Amino acid sequence: MAPRCNHCGASAEIYLDYARLNLCPACFKKFFEKKVKSTVSKYGMIKPGDKVLVAASGGKDSSALLFALKQLYPDVELKALHINLGIFGYSDECEQKFRELVEDLGVDFVVFDLREELGISMDDFRRTVYRRRLCSPCGTIKRYLMNKLAYEGGFTKLATGHNLDDVAEVLLNNYLHGKVEQLVRLKPVLPSIHPKSVAKIKPLWETTEMEDLLYASYQGIPFRTVECPLSAGTRSLRWKRLINDVAGKVRGFKHTFVKSHVNKVLPLLERSTPLPPLVECKSCGMPSSSETCAFCRRIQLVRGPA
Ligand SMILES: [Zn+2]
Ligand SMILES: [Zn+2]
Repeated sequence: MAPRCNHCGASAEIYLDYARLNLCPACFKKFFEKKVKSTVSKYGMIKPGDKVLVAASGGKDSSALLFALKQLYPDVELKALHINLGIFGYSDECEQKFRELVEDLGVDFVVFDLREELGISMDDFRRTVYRRRLCSPCGTIKRYLMNKLAYEGGFTKLATGHNLDDVAEVLLNNYLHGKVEQLVRLKPVLPSIHPKSVAKIKPLWETTEMEDLLYASYQGIPFRTVECPLSAGTRSLRWKRLINDVAGKVRGFKHTFVKSHVNKVLPLLERSTPLPPLVECKSCGMPSSSETCAFCRRIQLVRGPA
């Protein structure tokens, strides 16, 4: 006999192993939104009067995030930001899906095109020392631009679509290499630590990649289906598979791992490892831990010395 939805008794399509829950599509959508809402309120992510910039890549996670926030917080001022990275055979489809979504939702939006605004693309980094390890400079560039555009637009929060799988992967990697300063920063809400740095929130902190995918699919949300050609075979994808293998054998592994970090380890780390103060980059004026910020250094790599 087909399994029944634990919430309404209809025929179930989804089994969530970590929660031992069978759900039908309608109840799953409610379950997902309830979870996002409880994450947002548990960590005080969105408060009355907040102006929220939602970074949306056109992928399933950030598209699900934008959609869910729009349903859950119709009165909050939301704007969607898309960064076109200029990756051949990939970025234009991402932007296309983003545009379809914001049009469907009627959300105010802005697109930042690397080629138009900076005269470079992520593809240009293939010619640098990064060669095939492009996720690192790509992450630096995205983080910088998201913060800068949020700051310049007067936003009080920057929301990103990092999911539980992303967090577990970064967490495990930081532990493995003892990257304590990065462990201290790995949390659902990163408050502003400099007048030019906007607080970062991760409302999908407790939803898995699979849940984001199911929510996006059941809601009919447009999202990209192509994979980034620059990220194929990267460490993070291999590690996520490994973590999923473990989660298949140890029920709730990802949830417990991340929860223990936030509730038990993080409070101790925060006391023992204060973050170093930030200075302003001598070249762009944005917050930086060194004289010239990581973004400006990466851009110089492509453009050559000024
Ligand atoms: Zn149901
Ligand atoms: Zn700079």
